[in-house]
Amino acid sequence: MSQLPAVPATRTLGSSGIAISPIAWGMWRLADGGRSAAEAAKLVHAALDAEITLLDTADIYGFDGTNGFGDAEALLGQVLASEPGLRARMVLATKGGIMPPLPYDQSSDYLNSAIDASLRRLGTDMIDLWQIHRPDILAHPQEVARTLDAAVAAGKVRALGVSNFTPAQIAALNHFLGQKLVSTQPEISPLRIECFENGELDQAMQLGLTPLAWSPLSGGRLASPAGERPLAVAAALDAAAERAGVSRTVAAYSWLMAHPAGIVPIIGSQNPARIAEGAAALSVRWNREDWYAVLVAARGENLP
Ligand code: NAP
Repeated sequence: MSQLPAVPATRTLGSSGIAISPIAWGMWRLADGGRSAAEAAKLVHAALDAEITLLDTADIYGFDGTNGFGDAEALLGQVLASEPGLRARMVLATKGGIMPPLPYDQSSDYLNSAIDASLRRLGTDMIDLWQIHRPDILAHPQEVARTLDAAVAAGKVRALGVSNFTPAQIAALNHFLGQKLVSTQPEISPLRIECFENGELDQAMQLGLTPLAWSPLSGGRLASPAGERPLAVAAALDAAAERAGVSRTVAAYSWLMAHPAGIVPIIGSQNPARIAEGAAALSVRWNREDWYAVLVAARGENLP
């Protein structure tokens, strides 16, 4: 059986020169359930102690449809305020551009105020990776690029990324940017495989963007699969997991990481043991046969 290459211990965030762990931790669910700063600190430590250095949040995390905008960033800000040394151990990624409850706003005024507000809540003077969370169809990419280039020039942001953009939207924004994009963040999991064949990952490789995979376990659906396709995907992952001596979730992360685009899965668990377990995905080697078996299960039909 032909083995796929091992995952490197560190990756570079696009062309930024910023070293990141090949797996990340996300804070979408950090502010859920009224988590205290002390509890949040335990999760941050769990990630950093497992050598997971890319930490992903967003200004809208914590928003419940009515209240909570900014809560996840503010909670991380509290953790950083009580242990300032943690900031240098992480590559801090956040996002903005969704104005709750909706719509999206990528006007210059809104983006500038969103970046400033994130800096304030996080209590940091620079965001390592600032991402547009979802595209604003009413914003001209030239205007968005001008605003983001200015944020980089002002030293507020080190590197720029996008999330949930189509390849054409990425190409248009990148065309106008002086400081080119370094990352894209689509939903990717063994249950969400569109990007393998719709050009998103091909474009990422062409432009040198690091793909950050959101909901790599399909929001937890892979942990408790229901329905024919999720069960078939889980079975294909389990077969490979058993051979590698790891859990299904670790197999799922490593399946994504085996892709040549260098996908960085964002672990969504807010459980310290599960965060730490995720780092084991680095050590899993896939072979072509097992990798494609998961893909075929996910497609629900054989390859042509
Ligand atoms: P996920 O890893 O697909 O799902 C995590 C969920 O699965 C958690 O609720 C977790 O619960 C649960 N889970 C159940 N069994 C698990 C196990 N054995 N191991 C690990 N988790 C298990 O990720 P996600 O939370 O949906 O998303 C991950 C990150 O992606 C977010 O934090 C955020 O940074 C990013 N994201 C971005 C976007 C975007 O539009 N850009 C959208 C969504 C998410 P426990 O916490 O109890 O472990």
